[in-house]
Amino acid sequence: MPEYDVDLFVIGGGSGGVRAARIAAQHGARVMLAEEYRMGGTCVIRGCVPKKLLVYASRFHAEFEDAAGFGWTLPHSSFDWATLIANKDKEIARLEAAYTATLQKAGVSTAKSRAVLADGHTVQLANGERVRAAYVLIATGGTPSYGDQIPGIEHAISSNEAFHLPELPRRVVIQGGGYIAVEFAGIFAGLGAQVTLVYRGENILRGFDDDVRQHLRMDMERHGIRVITGCKVAAIERHGAHLSAHLSGGNHISADCVMFAVGRLPNVSKLGLKEAGVEIGKNGGIAVDEYSRTSSASIYAVGDVTNRVNLTPVAIREGHAFADSVFGGKPTAVDHTNVPTAVFSDPEIGAVGLTEAEARARLAHTDIYKAMFRPLKAMLSGRDTTVLLKLVVDGATGRVVGCHAVGEGAAEMIQMAAIAIKMRATKADFDATMALHPTTGEEFVTMRTRTATYAREAAE
Ligand SMILES: Cc1cc2nc3c(=O)[nH]c(=O)nc-3n(C[C@H](O)[C@H](O)[C@H](O)COP(=O)(O)OP(=O)(O)OC[C@H]3O[C@@H](n4cnc5c(N)ncnc54)[C@H](O)[C@@H]3O)c2cc1C
Repeated sequence: MPEYDVDLFVIGGGSGGVRAARIAAQHGARVMLAEEYRMGGTCVIRGCVPKKLLVYASRFHAEFEDAAGFGWTLPHSSFDWATLIANKDKEIARLEAAYTATLQKAGVSTAKSRAVLADGHTVQLANGERVRAAYVLIATGGTPSYGDQIPGIEHAISSNEAFHLPELPRRVVIQGGGYIAVEFAGIFAGLGAQVTLVYRGENILRGFDDDVRQHLRMDMERHGIRVITGCKVAAIERHGAHLSAHLSGGNHISADCVMFAVGRLPNVSKLGLKEAGVEIGKNGGIAVDEYSRTSSASIYAVGDVTNRVNLTPVAIREGHAFADSVFGGKPTAVDHTNVPTAVFSDPEIGAVGLTEAEARARLAHTDIYKAMFRPLKAMLSGRDTTVLLKLVVDGATGRVVGCHAVGEGAAEMIQMAAIAIKMRATKADFDATMALHPTTGEEFVTMRTRTATYAREAAE
C-alpha cells in the first residue's frame, strides 16, 4: 500500500487552489481538493466577477444621460435589481460548473467539504474521513472583517451579503475606504441609491497615489456620493425596516443598509495549523517564503491566506508556481513587484508601480509628469468629469517607476502599461512610442513637460 493516498491535497477551491491542483495534476500528481462552499472561491462567487457585473450595471445610468448630447432621445429607463441579481447568479453558476469541469478533466478528485489539518501529512474532512498526502496546499483565502465589535454590528452586511440583497436599498451607508468600499459606493450610487461613505482615515484608498485618491474623492462627490472622513460608524440601531448609523462625531445617518468593508482577514482559524506546525506571520496570514513554503516541510500556502498581495492573478500565479516547483521540477518564485491593480470605482482607477510618495522616499531624484483634462466624450455629453494620468519617473535613470490613471478605461490602459513598466521602460521609451489617436491613453506618450522634480532630502 502506498504511504500516501494522494501526492497533493489542496484545501480551498478558489483562484490559487484550483490553479495549483490543475497544474500539479498535469505534472502527473495524484491530487485531491476540498472546497467547503462553492468551487471558484471568492473571485468567482463573491468577489471580482460578480462585482464587475454589478459595476457594468451601475454604469448604464450615466451612459443613458450622456447619450442625449450625441443626439439620442431615450424612452424613460427603469432598473430592476431582481433581474440583475438573477442574471448575475446564472453566470456565476455557469462559471462554478466550468471550474468543476476543468478540475475533473485534469483528473483532480474533489470533495465538497471543509478540510482541516490533523498533522503535516493528514487532512480530515467533515465526515471524519482522513486523507494522507505527501504535500498539502493551504489555499483557504480570506473573510470580510467587521473591525471592532460595535453595538448593533449584527445589522451590518459585508460584501458577501451585498451580492444577494433582496432589493436595492434606497439609502446606503458604507464604512471603509479601501477598494471594495469605494467600488460598492459607485455600484449603489450608479443604480440610484443615496450613498454615504464613512472612513476613519484622512482620505480614501490608502496606499494609492495621493493625487489619485484626491481625484477620485472629488469625482465621487461630484457624482453625488457623500464622503465623510476622519470618522467611523460607532453604533447601528434598527428601527423597524430602517437603520440608523451613529457616527463617532455624534451625528447619525438614516439608512436602509449599512455595509462594512473595512478589510479582510486570512482564513487561518480552526484549520489545525498548530497541529501541523504551520506558523502565522506578522501580517496575520500564513508565513511563507518566496516559494510559498510554510514552516512545515510538507505544507505550502498560496493566495489571500498568506496575506501578501491579495488579488486573484497573484493567487493564480502563486498556485501555478507552487505546482511547477513541487511537481514540475521547475522551482519558481513569484515576483510580487509591479503588480498592476484596478479600482472599479466611478471613475475607474488603474495603477502600477510606485506612488509619488514611495518614489520620493526611495529614490534620489523623482520626476513627475501629470495630465488632467476633460475627455473628448464629455465635450458632447456635458458630463462633469476629468481624467488624471500620471507618470512617476526615476530622475537618475529615466525609468518610469509608476503609472497611474483615473478615468474611463483606466484599468485596460494600465494592464498594457504594466508590460512596459515590467520591462523597465524609460520615459524616453514612452516618448518614442507613437501616440494612438484619439484616445485617453495617448497622453501617456505625449507628456513632454515635467510637472515637478524632487531630490530626496539627506537623512539627518
Ligand atoms: C468584493 C471583492 C472584490 C474583489 N475584486 C477583485 C478584483 O477586482 N480583482 C482582483 O484581482 N481581486 C479581487 N478580489 C480579491 C480576490 O477575490 C482574491 O484575492 C482571490 O479570490 C484570492 O484567491 P484565493 O485562492 O487565495 O482564495 P479564495 O478565492 O478566497 O478561495 C478560498 C476558498 O477556500 C475555501 N475554504 C476556506 N476554508 C476552507 C476549508 N477549511 N476547507 C475547505 N474549503 C475552505 C473557501 O470557501 C474559498 O472558496 C476581490 C475580493 C472581494 C471580496
